[in-house]
Amino acid sequence: MVIGSSTGVLATVNQNLGAAIDRGARFFYIPLRAIIYSVKPLPKKLAIFDIDGTIFRSSLVIELSHELVRRGIFPLGARREIRKEYLAWLDRKGTYEAYIDKVVRIYIKHIRGRDYAAAKRAAAAVIAEQKDRTYRFTRNLIKKLKRQKYFLVAISGSPSYIVESYARAIGFNKFYGTELEVKRGVFTGRVLSLESAYHKDRIIKALVRQYPSINLRQSLAVGDTEGDAAMLKIVGRPLAFNPNLQLAKLAKKRGWPVVVERKDVMYNITDINLFGV
Ligand SMILES: [Mg+2]
Repeated sequence: MVIGSSTGVLATVNQNLGAAIDRGARFFYIPLRAIIYSVKPLPKKLAIFDIDGTIFRSSLVIELSHELVRRGIFPLGARREIRKEYLAWLDRKGTYEAYIDKVVRIYIKHIRGRDYAAAKRAAAAVIAEQKDRTYRFTRNLIKKLKRQKYFLVAISGSPSYIVESYARAIGFNKFYGTELEVKRGVFTGRVLSLESAYHKDRIIKALVRQYPSINLRQSLAVGDTEGDAAMLKIVGRPLAFNPNLQLAKLAKKRGWPVVVERKDVMYNITDINLFGV
């Protein structure tokens, strides 16, 4: 009885206390939880990835341009305008870079006056359909780096609104793409920033100014063309993945690791032979 009674009293006290805590919680617990969730750990080690040709087996701006033509947002003639460079690359008479450069110029020409929301819908459709068309090597590497708490950054020369959809689907912490001006929901045709295409190192340096906690010597960067060279040069762990000739030359000169994925095999290239090129 006594024990039971004490237990009962204690239980009542506990209930009252619990209720009081619950009432108090409305004032303290919820805001505290909100604060805890909003405080993210500061980035220390970056893992920076180019997207086109490094993760994605195609190019976001190419696939987006095709989709914009399919949806009638771009004229059919836009395809004809890139045909010469496309065929030259296909026949191995021109470079992929020349082809991509042309695609970007034609994209910028035709996006002027187009509706931003419609282009964003086209981008979302491309990502929904093609987001898994990645290289195995970089897909596995990203998974591993996420587990190791690297701060994942995507820097791509493709338009920022499709880079955003892609980066979110893959699970990047931060992303950068080419910025085009939009006014009253319409593209003006003005290019605001091409840094993500031509000066990837500047983006990283700005990020380091924003987060002094970042250690670039412990950071890693992965790219496939000479456009990625500047970002590879400023990290402690550069990696050339499926490099084009210009990047392969640089990797050889600097002794950077090179990985090549062909079909379903990954090769760690330790001796680059450029065969007299
Ligand atoms: Mg690339």
